[in-house]
Amino acid sequence: MSKHRGLLIVLSGPSGVGKGTVRKELFSQPDTNYEYSISMTTRQPREGEVDEVDYFFKTRGDFEKLIEQGQLLEYAQYVDNYYGTPLEYVDRMRDAGRDVFLEIEVQGASQVREKVPDGLFIFLAPPSLSELEERLVGRGTESDDVIASRISAARQELEMMNLYDYVVENDEVEKACDRINAIIIAEHCRRERVEKRYFDMLKENA
Ligand code: ADP
Ligand code: 5GP
Repeated sequence: MSKHRGLLIVLSGPSGVGKGTVRKELFSQPDTNYEYSISMTTRQPREGEVDEVDYFFKTRGDFEKLIEQGQLLEYAQYVDNYYGTPLEYVDRMRDAGRDVFLEIEVQGASQVREKVPDGLFIFLAPPSLSELEERLVGRGTESDDVIASRISAARQELEMMNLYDYVVENDEVEKACDRINAIIIAEHCRRERVEKRYFDMLKENA
């Protein structure tokens, strides 16, 4: 195992706030130095989505097997579908010293908070509730019923902000990305995360 385990970075927030958009922008930047964990889902692919790139698309039966076998770090039922994070990939990357980035909804994030207390939890917040609704409707990927369920979920999701270390407003995608990158840089300098290296150095030179 590597001496310095990679960070687990969790980006979460209400549906439609722009998590997918911000995550894609972060990973399109040439100097991004962390790994994206591709999630599993039972939802149908949207137009243009590619299996094993956007998600690992699974049947309900296969997903339930993964749950039984303990292969998921977290999972949630979100508006009639399962979504979950493969455990093995996250552990393997972190053990190799790589930071891993999860983009997940808030129920899953609270499970990760329990299991991985030293994770970095970032809540992406909308500029306003009306802007959030406009984004959900504007994306045009769901039926009116699904949009209504997501809006009602979003209100409860906003109340879960207190589980997070940082709140980043997604007013403009680029600004939100800059804030997230700044948080990650600062987190790497956090005393609790780095002090052991210096204590070991002192011991070696005693
Ligand atoms: P989530 O992954 O959180 O459900 P998406 O990334 O799919 O949200 O974004 C929802 C909609 O909002 C999309 O149509 C996207 O283009 C739009 N959007 C995302 N971020 C912004 C932003 N900063 N300003 C305006 N529109 C945005
Ligand atoms: P969508 O159907 O719009 O792709 O995703 C719906 C919600 O599920 C979004 O809030 C997205 O961030 C979240 N999501 C995506 N992958 C995962 C995952 O692995 N676990 C959990 N808990 N949520 C996820």
